[in-house]
Parts: sequence; structure tokens; C-alpha cells
Amino acid sequence: MKITRVEAIHLRLPEVNERCDGSQETLVVKVHTDAGLVGVGEVDSSSLVARAIIEAPLSHKICRGLAECVAGEDPFEIDRLIHRMYEGSIFFGRQGAAIQAMSGIEIALWDIVGKATKRPVYQLLGGGFRKTFRAYASILFGDTPAETERIGRSLAGQGFRAVKFGWGPMGQSEESDIAHVKAARRGIGDGIELMVDAGLCWDTATAIRRAQQFEQFNLTWLEEPLHPDNVEGYGRLSARSPMRIAAGEEVCDIKEFQRLMDVGGIDVAQVDVTRVGGLSRSKRIGYDAAERHRLCVNHSYKTGVNIAASLHFVACLPNTHYFEYCVEQGALRQTLTRQRFPVVGGEIAVPEEPGLGVELDEAVVAKYRVG
Ligand SMILES: [Mg+2]
Repeated sequence: MKITRVEAIHLRLPEVNERCDGSQETLVVKVHTDAGLVGVGEVDSSSLVARAIIEAPLSHKICRGLAECVAGEDPFEIDRLIHRMYEGSIFFGRQGAAIQAMSGIEIALWDIVGKATKRPVYQLLGGGFRKTFRAYASILFGDTPAETERIGRSLAGQGFRAVKFGWGPMGQSEESDIAHVKAARRGIGDGIELMVDAGLCWDTATAIRRAQQFEQFNLTWLEEPLHPDNVEGYGRLSARSPMRIAAGEEVCDIKEFQRLMDVGGIDVAQVDVTRVGGLSRSKRIGYDAAERHRLCVNHSYKTGVNIAASLHFVACLPNTHYFEYCVEQGALRQTLTRQRFPVVGGEIAVPEEPGLGVELDEAVVAKYRVG
């Protein structure tokens, strides 16, 4: 089997705003083969930038578009193709958007191999540690504590056993920060796990103070209280925090994840399969975390393609039972794939169909496609 074509499809809602909701637009990747099998992947990046990285023509040996790196190759040789893409993009890659773009192709390759062998991707990756995960409802804080409390009550009523609030008003003031987390806990009640995603809003000293102030609300973890470049600050915070510190969703590089754990001391490594270069690299990071006796969880704020790929990823890990399950409402997230990934009794199931186990709704693709 040979790869014949890579298609990078930019999808975008008619209105996009500054809210930190990554599913307002996305880049879906289709890898076509001469056997008629088509693999699907997704990229969490600036979609137009990632599309250009995939489609760019050859400039020279180590400056080439990713599609050109895999054209004519055997889709089963995934590690070799990751290497070809990484080496072919050295001039502009190694970090950031080039690695994010690589994710879409790499995930699509796994989808092809799964479909060809009639196996779910998690089995091909050697996984199957768990078949269901505790889906934690992931949502942005309300604009006011009262709204946060109302959202929390609603999510608890839907049967979630864990809820994470993030971004929005965090960082406005000490009084407001505490009021929102207090309202979140009041809304969901005491029997449900609570996580807080601070959204990079504090300096190190403030983050240490907030971690101590939030201890009374029994958080499962405090996420991204600091700027991703502040690895030394993460180290000081982790040493003094009474709760787990989680981070990593902006990180694309394997060694940077190691540094976040070894210097930053984080307890929970958050890996986005559509940012770190795909499933193989995600698994490497997950095992780096396992060897350090840390948790590794998915970051997932895109569409059903990302959800499916993330489920296959966490099914390969011995060190998690959580799954980030975004409950923000959006047309691409809710309708792009025919699969809806229902949460039953607070749990989400890993797909058992061949490949990723997702099918795109082509009418939705046509509706939101740009360019
Ligand atoms: Mg986050």
C-alpha cells in the first residue's frame, strides 16, 4: 500500500471569538492510499499555519512540506515516516506548529493501519489497560461565581463524577479567584472530583498562595497556574503545593515534557495527541511520566477525531484513569463525527471499531470548510 495524497481541510465556524475554546475552528487531515483506504487525523494549532506546513513545496532537503515527506510511502512504516517528517522540517520545525501539523498525518496513518488490519488503534499501540475512563467534564468558568455554581450543579446533575473549570475570570483578584472555586465546589457538591485550570494567570508567588488557599476545596489538581516558560517556577510551586500540579498542554517537545517533570516537578503531564506529533510520541511521553510515577492525562478541546485518538492514547497507558471531556457546546465538536462518545455513569468508552473508530459527517465538513 502507498500513500497517494494528504488533504488538509480547514474547518471554521462563521463566528470565532477570543474565548479559549479550541473547537471554533480546526484542521482535519485525510491521508489517501492507493488501496482506497483513507485515514483521518486532526491538528490543534493555528489551522492555516499548520495547513501551509503540510502543503508547502520542497525548498531543499531539510525544508519541505510534510505531505511531500510521506507521499508514495508505505503507511505502515509510521516510525520511519515520523522521522522523515521531523528531519524534513528541521529548518522551520522541531517545535510548535510543525510538530502540531505532524500530529494530523501521524494519527491518520494509525487510522489506515487499523482499518487495514481490522483492529482498533489502541491494540496496535500495545494498549488495552482500561476500556473505560472517568470522563471529567471540562468547561470554562462562568463570568460570575453564581454562574459557575449553576454550571457545576448542572454538570453534577448530568452524572459526571469529576468536573474541571478553567480560564475566564481566574486571575482578576484574590477575592474573585477564591469565590469562583468556592462556587464551583458548592455547585458540584462534595462527592464529585474538582479540578481547576488557572489558565496561565499568576506569577509563582501568587500561584503558591492560591494553591494553599484552594486546599480547603479539595482539588484533584491545579492546572497551568503559571506561564509554560516558567519551568523553574513550576519547580518551586510543586514543592510547596498541597495538591497535584498539572501542566503540559502547550508543550510539543518530548524533552520539554521531561524537563517539566524533572525541573518543574509537575504531578500530572497533560498531552494533546493533536499537538505533540501524534500517538507514538504521546505514548513516549506517557511512559516518561509512568517511569517517574506521575499521572499522564489527555488534553482534548477539539472535535470527535481528537476525542477518539485521545481515547486510544490513554488506553495505552498504565498511569491514568481520567479523560478530559470538553462539554463546551460547539457545532464542530458536537457534529463533525457521527460518533458522539456518550458518558454513561461518568465513564467514557474506548472505541472498539477498526482504526480510530470515527466517521466524518461529510455534510458538516462541506458546511464549515474554508479555502
Ligand atoms: Mg488546560
